[in-house]
Amino acid sequence: MNDHQSKLSTLCIHGGRRSSQGDSAVVTPIYQTSTFVPDPEDYAKVEAGETADSRFYSRYGNPTVAAVEHRIAALEAADEARLFSSGNAAMHASLMALALPGGHVVAADKLYGGTRAILDHCLTDAGGSVTYVDLDDHEALRAAVTPATRVLVCESIANPTLEVSDIPYLETLAREQGLALVVDATYATPIHQRPITLGADLVVHSASKYYGGHSDLVAGAVAGSREIVSRITTWRMNGGGCCDPHVAFLIDRGIKTLALRMGAHNRGGQALAEFLEGHSRVRRVNYPGLPSFAHHDRARELLKGMGGMVLFSLDGEDDEADILLSRLRLALPAPSLGGVESLVCQPARTSHAKMSEQERLAVGILPGTIRVSVGIEDPGDLIADFEQALAGSVIE
Ligand SMILES: *Cc1c(COP(=O)(O)O)cnc(C)c1O
Repeated sequence: MNDHQSKLSTLCIHGGRRSSQGDSAVVTPIYQTSTFVPDPEDYAKVEAGETADSRFYSRYGNPTVAAVEHRIAALEAADEARLFSSGNAAMHASLMALALPGGHVVAADKLYGGTRAILDHCLTDAGGSVTYVDLDDHEALRAAVTPATRVLVCESIANPTLEVSDIPYLETLAREQGLALVVDATYATPIHQRPITLGADLVVHSASKYYGGHSDLVAGAVAGSREIVSRITTWRMNGGGCCDPHVAFLIDRGIKTLALRMGAHNRGGQALAEFLEGHSRVRRVNYPGLPSFAHHDRARELLKGMGGMVLFSLDGEDDEADILLSRLRLALPAPSLGGVESLVCQPARTSHAKMSEQERLAVGILPGTIRVSVGIEDPGDLIADFEQALAGSVIE
């Protein structure tokens, strides 16, 4: 069966498998080695810049890492994929490779804090520049594009407010203006959306989240055309942000259950969002699967599942959210997301702590806001946990 005809749940198990792997092992072995005794073929690959598939030195490429990269490329419907030491390393190499020297980036105003830091510090310090814009404000978006603009960057689903990017519109604009469209698809995963099939040039992931899926590793991934990925691979090789083979093995193990896990995250996310929306202490719930959500129709059009991320605001201040978090028994108060266990955090205390309350309001984060990464526990148990915590944390 050809990768292009297979369903995603099949690709999670068999995607990118090479009959030429020359190995009878059913599971990709861990090549825990820094270096190799190269063949003439490997020397030729390194010389031609095709380092990722070479057996030469593990900063250049490693067979375990390469096997996972082939699987991710199949899942993302991309020519090539590369793993990195973190999601930030993947985004950093991508933006540097595509925007430098001297280029300008147009970025969504709702963006993961780490990506913003790359744009505000690394890119700007290296002579590039950035403009943030509300991507739904088409006039402002078009006005932000200058002759120096090379990249348009967004998230398929924004962290933490869950707005859904209109990738078909952004793709049209990117084509028209000759920009590379870069989509951080960490929240959606290829199970819910494959941005490459919608015209994106590059997909970036924090594999620390759903791809890995068990909160036990930090890694990143990119997927795209051979030409773009090759430019980014040079940055990986020189910058040194390669993925360790043992971490790659864990990502591969995680990917095998990705479709299964996303189904459970969807069910739990929908159930918890509906429960919270009906609770008297909750002022607002952001969840793409709720008809009350501003981008509900767009989510239904562009996403195959609504996911496990839920944002809600208590009818109260941040200290009431602190108490609620301390009363939860199943959901753990920790940053990060996308694992099998439910995690809760307050953007005002974590990812958006550096902003003023005014600035947070401008990006849609009200006081008393909590982000939930819904795990794969029984949805009824999770709802019961939130019910008891909400009942017991009222400040009199
Ligand atoms: C976590 C995250 C990142 C950064 O990934 P790391 O693996 O933590 O470096 C990038 N984008 C999004 C949307 C994230 O949630």
